[in-house]
Amino acid sequence: MTPLVDTFGRTHDNLRISVTDRCNIRCFYCMPEEGVKFEPKEHVLTFEEIERFVRIAVSLGVRKLRLTGGEPLLRRDLSALVRKLNAIEGIEDMALTTNGVLFAAQAQELYDAGLHRINVHLDTLDRARFQQITRRDDFGRVMEGIEAALRIGYNVKINAVAVKNLVEPDIVPLARFGRENGIEIRYIEFMPLDAQGIWDKGKVLLADDMIAMIEREIGKLRAIPDQDPRAPATEYAFEDGIGSVGFIASVSRPFCLNCNRIRLTADGKFRYCLFAIEETDIRTLLRNGSPDSVIAAAIRQSVREKWIGHQINTQQFVPPPRPMYSIGG
Ligand code: SAM
Ligand code: SF4
Repeated sequence: MTPLVDTFGRTHDNLRISVTDRCNIRCFYCMPEEGVKFEPKEHVLTFEEIERFVRIAVSLGVRKLRLTGGEPLLRRDLSALVRKLNAIEGIEDMALTTNGVLFAAQAQELYDAGLHRINVHLDTLDRARFQQITRRDDFGRVMEGIEAALRIGYNVKINAVAVKNLVEPDIVPLARFGRENGIEIRYIEFMPLDAQGIWDKGKVLLADDMIAMIEREIGKLRAIPDQDPRAPATEYAFEDGIGSVGFIASVSRPFCLNCNRIRLTADGKFRYCLFAIEETDIRTLLRNGSPDSVIAAAIRQSVREKWIGHQINTQQFVPPPRPMYSIGG
């Protein structure tokens, strides 16, 4: 089969799958504090439905998977899904994005099922600020999760969301922590995907400002040569040879022109972009007896309709109707 190429010539081989929209913490830039509306259980795809979808996507050229959410570790027996997906011929890479709160207890089981790469979401090493951001007091559990991952031998990265006038004191300590523990910190510019519409450009801590802070306090950074242009993070190595940091600068340096990502939400909607307004209802196709060829055609059609990019920096930008936790970050 021909690969999933859109009208801008971008080939899509990277699928992000949300396994649940539920979460056990409440980061303010993602979820409201109370009254979150979750999908009813019967709307959420079963592991068998996800596996079938992935097999079809692999037949269209998908090679990389990332499991996300909501908080994916809330999905019971996630290791069973990891095992199923890992067994699909053609999958070359699988990773998980998690807030880490429940990771320590599941770390070994997931590793044994074939998961070896995780991104743990942690914005600060300060317990009080962690609580301020997430509205939960789970900092200690996240740290236990990171320790367990390192002990077992996972490749660990940390995702830190960069909100201006809030996390400036955390940028340098996180970079130091990463250097000391062999973890790449990936700073993610705050994006307009929060449930309460609080985003504005003035609240984004920009990659260039974070680079300046790190260079001032720790040392010179050098852009790593020959990076995969399709990866969202731009990576920099410390000139002293100890460690690296990455920046996902969706706002100040949009990387849409190299995008290779497609998404499946927990309730079975296919999205060609994190910021897409429209989506394709795959759940109905999975449940109404449609053959694989019809589902493959629906994926292909959606990719054909993919827009050039999110346009955050223009007047035309419209935030997607779903917030981050409901899309799958
Ligand atoms: N619960 C898991 C977690 O927090 O990692 C997985 C889902 S979460 C939606 C995926 C990632 O989205 C998080 O790691 C966080 O860094 C990022 N994120 C959430 N809201 C964001 C926002 N408004 N802007 C930028 N990144 C955001
Ligand atoms: Fe939950 Fe992740 Fe959203 Fe935070 S960013 S509320 S951990 S889904």
